[in-house]
Amino acid sequence: MSALAEDGRSPSMAEGGLLAVDGLELRVRVSARRRRFALTVEPDAGLTLHTPEGRPVSDGEDFVRAHRSWLVGKIGLREATRPLNPAKRLTEGEVFRYLGRTYRLALVADQPTRKSVRLSAGRLAMSEETAADPERGREALVDWYCRAGQKWAAGRLQPWAARMVVAEPALDVRDLGTRWGSFRSDGERPGTGLMSLGWPLFQLPMHLVDYVIAHELAHVRVSGHRTDFWRLLGQALPEYQERKNELDELGRRMWMGEIA
Ligand SMILES: [Zn+2]
Repeated sequence: MSALAEDGRSPSMAEGGLLAVDGLELRVRVSARRRRFALTVEPDAGLTLHTPEGRPVSDGEDFVRAHRSWLVGKIGLREATRPLNPAKRLTEGEVFRYLGRTYRLALVADQPTRKSVRLSAGRLAMSEETAADPERGREALVDWYCRAGQKWAAGRLQPWAARMVVAEPALDVRDLGTRWGSFRSDGERPGTGLMSLGWPLFQLPMHLVDYVIAHELAHVRVSGHRTDFWRLLGQALPEYQERKNELDELGRRMWMGEIA
């Protein structure tokens, strides 16, 4: 790659090109506004070298070599925390989780309301017609998680709020993308607000759902994640750090709604 141009100088780097340096492969991004080199590691562990215009390839290679150990460390970290969320099939016997237990999907010929999913005799029943349409099937499952999760979490809010001496917020369970929960305080009435929980959370064991509920309740009193926030959470849930680690590790293996 360190080919020399005819004038004896290394050619300059091209936008979108690939740069291979000692076993690392980087995508090149050239910007006229940029003054210095920079490196980024993407969420999928892909590497990008950002470069000013007109810089020779050899300069880029030198920069990458000088930061090799930083890059290798970041790649390792990305690999270790990379999402491993599986896709699910809407077929008889597919496994779904609810509060840490597994339930198999049962496809049934009739269903009182054709769109819905219900838990029946230890199985998640869905009509064959709904399952035949991946978008509708997904919607029906998400809707079931939202309803079941809302019902379950409503009963947990009061004891946790009492333990943390905060007012019980309103609750909704919905799609929050990759977040497990959020709390939005009511501007008019400080100390109250809306707690939202993401439906995929309810696949996890109860003690991890409790961790997220306690976490969001701590935000009723303290916004942000500074020391006073963790102190308040630690008073109500001394083992919060273990639970957070477990949530990070199990969470990246949960189904996030993708249908195969
Ligand atoms: Zn938070």
